[in-house]
Amino acid sequence: AEEMLRHSEKLSVVGQLAAGIAHEIRNPLTSLVGFLQLIKSAPPQKILEYTDIMLVELNRINNIVNEFMLISKPQSSKFENKNICSIISNVVSLLQPQALLHNVEIQFESSKDFEYMVRSDEGQLKQVFINLLKNSLEAMPSGGNIDIVLQHADKRRMSIKLNDNGVGIAEELLPRLGDPFFTTKEEGTGLGLMVCYRIIEAHQGNMRIQSKVGVGTAIEIELPFI
Ligand code: ADP
Ligand code: MG
Repeated sequence: AEEMLRHSEKLSVVGQLAAGIAHEIRNPLTSLVGFLQLIKSAPPQKILEYTDIMLVELNRINNIVNEFMLISKPQSSKFENKNICSIISNVVSLLQPQALLHNVEIQFESSKDFEYMVRSDEGQLKQVFINLLKNSLEAMPSGGNIDIVLQHADKRRMSIKLNDNGVGIAEELLPRLGDPFFTTKEEGTGLGLMVCYRIIEAHQGNMRIQSKVGVGTAIEIELPFI
């Protein structure tokens, strides 16, 4: 019964998202049509400018569709006993090239004498850390540091802290984080954090975000041990 509840819950979220996505895609499409019409009679020196704008809009549509497919893909959730250290290390190495490119150093620390085992769907948890690290990278256009620390929160839960010293988030925007389509980025989708919250919830955990403009962002995830 719990499975069914979760399934129908998922459907309704996907349904809500589909309506939102139609709306989110219509705006850039309208502007693409407008620019194409302009280009037909534009002087050559304007064409490059217009195509640049069109590329931004097309990338936005592309990002939205990609993330939507990730969310709506009927995943048969596979919960297994997993070592969270290797999940995080895996994602860190995956994003290392991008970090180097951005001049960002990622450090991951955890106590060596303890195995942090978690009941999890590895693919989904990886998605969480990919989304969070990508946000941090995007918040540090001129380089910086990301620190990840894994430790005990209490007897039953582990805590994963992720700190960056990026641009930060204005206080009045904090309540909107995780709302579908809330983004401050030109090519953002505003779906990343929503996906993170949902996945962490499905793992019986919780996620908190603290941030200060010009200082950085701190995210804490708590997950139950096995
Ligand atoms: P997107 O990255 O597509 O914009 P997200 O849901 O991942 O969507 O993030 C929503 C918004 O939250 C971002 O547009 C950004 O304004 C803010 N944000 C998230 N993480 C960070 C961070 N580490 N530093 C600064 N801002 C962040
Ligand atoms: Mg994001």
